[in-house]
Amino acid sequence: MRNITMIIIHCSATRSDRPFPVTSLIACHRQRFGYTGYHYYITRNGQTHQTRHENLVGAHAKGYNTHSIGICYEGGLLPNGHPADTRTEAQKAALWHLIQSLLADYPQARILGHCELPGVTKTCPNFLASREYADLQPAA
Ligand SMILES: [Zn+2]
Repeated sequence: MRNITMIIIHCSATRSDRPFPVTSLIACHRQRFGYTGYHYYITRNGQTHQTRHENLVGAHAKGYNTHSIGICYEGGLLPNGHPADTRTEAQKAALWHLIQSLLADYPQARILGHCELPGVTKTCPNFLASREYADLQPAA
């Protein structure tokens, strides 16, 4: 098993009124990286798709891939293209469950959003993941 110190949350940066199914994500990433960069993808209906084996290093957070798991939720942009937390209740519930199950395997992992990493200028995932999951964070 890899030594996982971070669970990093992302959004697909797609508009909440335009479906971006897992098949599209896989096709898009295959072109860019040769494989899917995230380990999990959560669609608006609350379905969790495993898109990369946890033991394989992903491609989702430059400089932090080696020791992290990447989770992406579908959305992150309003219909007008502005960044926002567009998670559905089903997505929030699925994300919570997934993080809890990952913490069972990687209890030392911190949960944070992509934008909380040093040097990241994007706003992804458009909510403050470290705060939202404060109760799940490992003791410092
Ligand atoms: Zn991101």
